[in-house]
Amino acid sequence: MCASPRIPNQAQLPTEPRWRRQLVAVCCWLCVCMLGFTACTPAPDKVKGNIRVVATTGMVADLVRQIGGDQIRVEQLLSSGVDPHLYKPNTDDVRAVTSADIVFYNGFKLEGRMSDLLGKANSASKKYVAIAESIPSSESIGDPEHDAADPHVWMDVTLWAHATHVIESTLVERLPEHALLFRERASELRSKLMKLDEQGRTWMASIPESQRVLITSHDAFRYFGRRYGLQVEGIQGVSTSSEAGLKRISDLVSLLVEKKIPAAFVESSVPEKSIRALLEGAAQRGSNVAIGGELYSDAMGPSGSEAESYEGMMLHNFRTIAKALGGNTDTVKEQPK
Ligand SMILES: [Zn+2]
Repeated sequence: MCASPRIPNQAQLPTEPRWRRQLVAVCCWLCVCMLGFTACTPAPDKVKGNIRVVATTGMVADLVRQIGGDQIRVEQLLSSGVDPHLYKPNTDDVRAVTSADIVFYNGFKLEGRMSDLLGKANSASKKYVAIAESIPSSESIGDPEHDAADPHVWMDVTLWAHATHVIESTLVERLPEHALLFRERASELRSKLMKLDEQGRTWMASIPESQRVLITSHDAFRYFGRRYGLQVEGIQGVSTSSEAGLKRISDLVSLLVEKKIPAAFVESSVPEKSIRALLEGAAQRGSNVAIGGELYSDAMGPSGSEAESYEGMMLHNFRTIAKALGGNTDTVKEQPK
């Protein structure tokens, strides 16, 4: 009699040891619990406003927002169209500055009467950070009118990209738990700004060489001129607080006429009275000079406009200048996003 072959049933099939299955089950249960806990408890990243940050101009605030993201709450003091040179802080502004955890400002005495308040601030706490003053000293342009350098550093996109480093390091020091995020964002921002700089250089180089002269209301474009290869002349000096002299206007009329410059430019934050005087002077000497458009010099554009961001403001300036001075803006590189 032969025994019938034994057919193993399912329970008898070789399987993983029981302890191993139990371990897997426990791990799965733990994962589900952790996921549930994460979903119900706001991650620190989502808590907007871990620290209160004040930024003065739109150009400063834009960089700070892009690097700080949701991990900080940013209050911008100067709204679009406000001339920082003539800016007088009100009591709310002073309160915002004194109660903030960090204050990012331009520096080089750009912020009018607020410069004293910011300049007097103690440096031991590292609360007050002048981002334009973080550029290498060899890159700053002297200002004969004041004992500080020319403050319009953002007009050279590569220098403004350099200024992101001090924002990054300040935020990393204050909120080290978000260091990775701040570093990633700052690095991406610098890449975008390098593309923007390249776009600007391409468009400026397309202007006929003899017409690379930029005449504006005040001397906000000296960094711009140095970087992008234009002779720059402002009717007023580096600050808008000085009145334009008749001699200065007469000299610039001669320059416009002799070099056959087709356009001069108004600035969004400075009254256009002096530019009008210039055009009238040129017309009296038989030269037809147009207003080349409005440039954003010391303040960004209103919300909803192209110039509401720093990158948009600079793209607008590059395009407006190139078109009015006979350049070609058809070559569009990848737009900064
Ligand atoms: Zn200015």
